[in-house]
Amino acid sequence: MKNAIKAELADRVKNLPPYLFERIDRLKKDALKKGIDVIDLSIGDPDLPTPSHIVKALQNAAEKPENHCYPSYEGMLSYRQTAANWCKVRFGIDLDSEKEVLSLIGSKEGVGHLPLAFVNPGDVVLCPSPGYPVYTVGTLFAGGEPYLMPLTESNGYFPDFAGIPENVLKRAKLMYLNYPNNPTSATCTKTCFSEAVELAHKYGFIICHDAAYSELYFDGKRPASFLQVDGAKDVAIELHSLSKTYNMTGWRIGFAVGNADVVFGLGKIKTNLDSGVFQAIQEAGIAALNTVDGVLSDIRDTYQARRDTLYEGLNRLGMEAKKPEATFYLWARVPKKFTSAGFSIHLLEKAGVMATPGNGFGTDGEGYIRFALTKDVSRIKEAVERIEKVI
Ligand SMILES: *Cc1c(COP(=O)(O)O)cnc(C)c1O
Repeated sequence: MKNAIKAELADRVKNLPPYLFERIDRLKKDALKKGIDVIDLSIGDPDLPTPSHIVKALQNAAEKPENHCYPSYEGMLSYRQTAANWCKVRFGIDLDSEKEVLSLIGSKEGVGHLPLAFVNPGDVVLCPSPGYPVYTVGTLFAGGEPYLMPLTESNGYFPDFAGIPENVLKRAKLMYLNYPNNPTSATCTKTCFSEAVELAHKYGFIICHDAAYSELYFDGKRPASFLQVDGAKDVAIELHSLSKTYNMTGWRIGFAVGNADVVFGLGKIKTNLDSGVFQAIQEAGIAALNTVDGVLSDIRDTYQARRDTLYEGLNRLGMEAKKPEATFYLWARVPKKFTSAGFSIHLLEKAGVMATPGNGFGTDGEGYIRFALTKDVSRIKEAVERIEKVI
């Protein structure tokens, strides 16, 4: 008999925080098996198709043999130039497309790899809570210590920097920020960004601003770029994603822009671990970044109509919710008698409506639930009607 392999998980995997969504996924499967018509508002993945000019660009680019080789890890110059130009047109920021722009296999890749480049065991990484789980997981994989910065309703879902102990700030190597914010949908002003830049200068840490939702905004209020703030490029990079803006989540493409040393460090990890984005997808990415405004405003209008339906619906039921200014999420308080997880299970079992419990994004999300606006208006209306019967 052969010896059994020792497939025991490494400590870094075993010690990961429990994955709360697993139980809910299981309950969803059970509900579907029972024939319940589940309205799934839990997933941050657009239900809309990728605009056709982008699909066409991929079809053409896939035909070209010169695109069939390994791409360069940092991205084709034409892609980086297009990304730099997009930032110039959209935010008025100047970037060196060779040193200050890096292609990413989706922004999640950049979030996850950044700590490997800069965080030593024992270094602190400041992470928003609630927040996108990859900030803390990437930190833990690099041996760093996440320090959770609570985002609360009373501080406008922006960290209270004054509340972070001095000894933590002194050990900080990196801070993640994310506006427009997942899961709270909050946006933030340049003044808040300036406070963060000042703090980073004082304590000498890097800021990584995750701008995955910068183009999904409502009422014509365009969110700012972190790099628009004076001095930001001395301390920060910003991650952009084509996933949510252009309904391209499956394509895996984004980019990092900003501080040349940070871009260099992140690139160093990428040369050693991955081989860049398929060039045909970069060509499609160029087509995406050159998308005319009309196509994007149609996408925004679609989400805005859904937002209005859900926000007004929940309000009518007496649920306290934050009116989203951007993103495709709606952050609502769960009724007092429930916990976050309890309420999401209740909605699934009694109403066939699925939403994500706030504590899945960190303990500071307890008491809230996140609805994603990734179903059409008629389904959202139906979800509200079903919720009405069970609260
Ligand atoms: C969806 C999401 C990402 C990941 O986007 P990809 O570019 O598809 O990897 C990153 N950050 C936040 C906050 C997100 O919600």
